[in-house]
Amino acid sequence: MSPSVSPAFASTSELCHHGAAVHDKKLPRPTKRDSPNGNAVPLGQSLRGPLSYVDHFGLSPADLRSVLGVALASGGDFAEIFMEYRTYDFINMEEDIIKETAEAVSIGLGIRVIRGDRTGFGYTNDLSLDKVRKAAQTAAAIAHGKSAGAPPPALRDRTRATSRYLIRRPAHKASLRSKMALVREAYAAAQAFDKRIAKVKAHYSDSLRHMCIANSEGLLVHDTRPMVKLVCVAISEKDGKRESGYWGGGGRVGVEYFSDTLTPRRIGEEAAREAVLLLEAVEAPAGEMPIVLAPGHSGVLIHEAVGHLLEADFNRKKTSVFWNKMGKRVGSPLVTIYDDPTIPSFRGSYNIDDEGTPPRKTLLIEKGIVRGLLQDKLSCRLMRGRLTGHGRREDYSCAPIPRMANTYIAAGDDAPEDILRSVKKGFYVASLSGGQVEDSGKFTFSVSLGYLIEDGKLTAPVKQATLIGTNIDILNKIDMVGSDLEFGLQTGTCSKEGQDVPVTDGCPTLRIAKMTVGGTS
Ligand SMILES: [Zn+2]
Repeated sequence: MSPSVSPAFASTSELCHHGAAVHDKKLPRPTKRDSPNGNAVPLGQSLRGPLSYVDHFGLSPADLRSVLGVALASGGDFAEIFMEYRTYDFINMEEDIIKETAEAVSIGLGIRVIRGDRTGFGYTNDLSLDKVRKAAQTAAAIAHGKSAGAPPPALRDRTRATSRYLIRRPAHKASLRSKMALVREAYAAAQAFDKRIAKVKAHYSDSLRHMCIANSEGLLVHDTRPMVKLVCVAISEKDGKRESGYWGGGGRVGVEYFSDTLTPRRIGEEAAREAVLLLEAVEAPAGEMPIVLAPGHSGVLIHEAVGHLLEADFNRKKTSVFWNKMGKRVGSPLVTIYDDPTIPSFRGSYNIDDEGTPPRKTLLIEKGIVRGLLQDKLSCRLMRGRLTGHGRREDYSCAPIPRMANTYIAAGDDAPEDILRSVKKGFYVASLSGGQVEDSGKFTFSVSLGYLIEDGKLTAPVKQATLIGTNIDILNKIDMVGSDLEFGLQTGTCSKEGQDVPVTDGCPTLRIAKMTVGGTS
């Protein structure tokens, strides 16, 4: 790849698509056994020792500082180097055999220059000083300033000793054979679950991402992030009907997760259970009705309907319906929403964001009132906001943008069984298969599994329903909030401007007084 320029990122009509791999379902929080008091070792510290810039990237702090000088030479306000070395393993099983295994390594570096609201960006996967300087010149070209900026200060390593990735058995050290055994176990469990299971797919992946960030404010910081994921898709068949079920788990965990927290067997069985249940499901009802959202996986609705619209860039550009709502009421006083990248071992968590900022739990909506935005450096500078540690990027070839991490609606006071009992006739959303939201706040969600609610009880399973609404309308119509906050499956990915990042979302049982269900019956 050669260095390339990407212009200041234009505001586009932004849609978030949660693809087929994104389902959010019940998952216990990572086991308490992985506490600092146990045997867990924070990855990237004791396990590997301090990251050597020279070993991984062949660039010394002095080299980095000189490259930052090149990046600022056209008068940029800010320059940054993001270096990344990533190892990646995956295993695919279908048609009863391990179809594919692969190991991959990628290395590269991206350089960003900010001037005003414009971003210049260059990247290269050739880390010779010569090529790196060229990438810096490419990024600098955006600035077009006549005078050079001030030379960058000496870099100071601000990496903290603590880590949120508490791991006993790192996946990158586990044998391929042991990982294949996990895949086979999930696959076999799904297949054996019921004779109506016609087809199974199981997929495992893990990655280890060493990253180092240096910027013109003198920051030098690094992080080593693990990620593990095992998912299973089961397809059932009966009388010519086909349905599919999905389950999975993982996070910034080690392979001990698959014995301590969520076994491959359970992943396979849950996928199969959903696929078989859907064979008996009825067509969805249509029209406006009270909705009850199951805890955990329904958090994807909060991600879509609220989270994206509180990303700082959309508010700075005034494309979000929330841009002028700071401090104003947008929802029911029962609704409080956070994004928290600091939850240990969660898929959406990190020690530093992709700009080197330590993240903090960020209050977005407090009792129905907008209180905060998800900030990255660019928006923060332009809006004179406070950094929250939500600048993220897919990899070194992308400039960071404000993103969610682990987004959730806080627990309320209602007992979940009271919420269900309160609905005479309505619709229960057990799992969502995906959704999308427009800048206007209008959204649609696909419900993979729902139930009819009749006289306060769940009755027939329902398939192929759609939820349609606008975010402010829904936030105002949430009229019961359960005490049972749960997080969805640790398998979610969020897409924005072509960049995928791992996320998690969560919510307690929620009642929405009225919402449109698009169905066929
Ligand atoms: Zn998203």
